[in-house]
Amino acid sequence: MNFHVLTLFPDLIEMGCRTSILGRAMENGYISVTATNIRDFAENKHGRVDDYPYGGGAGLVMQPGPIERAYQAVREKIPGSHRVIYLTPQGKVFSQSMAEELAREPDLVLLCGHYEGVDERILERIVTDNVSIGDYVLTGGELPAMVLIDAVSRMVEGVLHNQDSAEIESFHDNLLEYPQYTRPEVYEGMRVPEVLLSGHHANIERWRREQSLERTLRWRPDLLEKAELTGEDREYLAKKGLQVE
Ligand code: SAM
Repeated sequence: MNFHVLTLFPDLIEMGCRTSILGRAMENGYISVTATNIRDFAENKHGRVDDYPYGGGAGLVMQPGPIERAYQAVREKIPGSHRVIYLTPQGKVFSQSMAEELAREPDLVLLCGHYEGVDERILERIVTDNVSIGDYVLTGGELPAMVLIDAVSRMVEGVLHNQDSAEIESFHDNLLEYPQYTRPEVYEGMRVPEVLLSGHHANIERWRREQSLERTLRWRPDLLEKAELTGEDREYLAKKGLQVE
């Protein structure tokens, strides 16, 4: 899986992706992340890539020409069709299911805006998807691009040592994950739940499922509406006095 990022701050992307699990995934060839500096495609000697907005108003807008040329340079290296994602607060809000879907693409081009944003005409020409990482405004698209790269990469086979962990994590099936514990068995007088020490796998599985159900209902009831619940799940919630539609 190859990520091609169009940005004014390539160092930020490269540094951010070089460590920990993503860094290892790159070293082992499961993913690649290349950042193309849009400024290298400016046509003036000052490397200027932004200008004042037509119609007036605050801030500067990124010009279409340098972005188009940077994109063409990337495009020459990618065979066939591919999606071009503009990170924008106006886009569809990013989710685990979107990460799972995007992980099936061989190449993704990510466009990071800055300043007041990007000239609309280049967005119309090259962008296939608009993606937001949440209802707040950041100064640039680099952090959102890294969020997307991280979440998508975890879904790429081989990136996580234990692929199971991606499959039982929060949001995978619209449930939050159960609580986790590790050594020591007693910490500041607080014991690890007895069932986890029992070695009884069926009971452990049931306990974890119940914990998932309970915390999803408590913290993210909106998710439960989309979760696939078994009869046993509904019975458990009803027993606890927790009603699900
Ligand atoms: N004026 C724009 C608007 O109101 O929609 C916001 C521009 S923002 C200051 C600069 C850049 O940051 C955007 O072009 C986008 O690439 C990125 N950005 C900011 N917030 C974001 C978010 N929540 N999700 C994804 N990208 C975001």
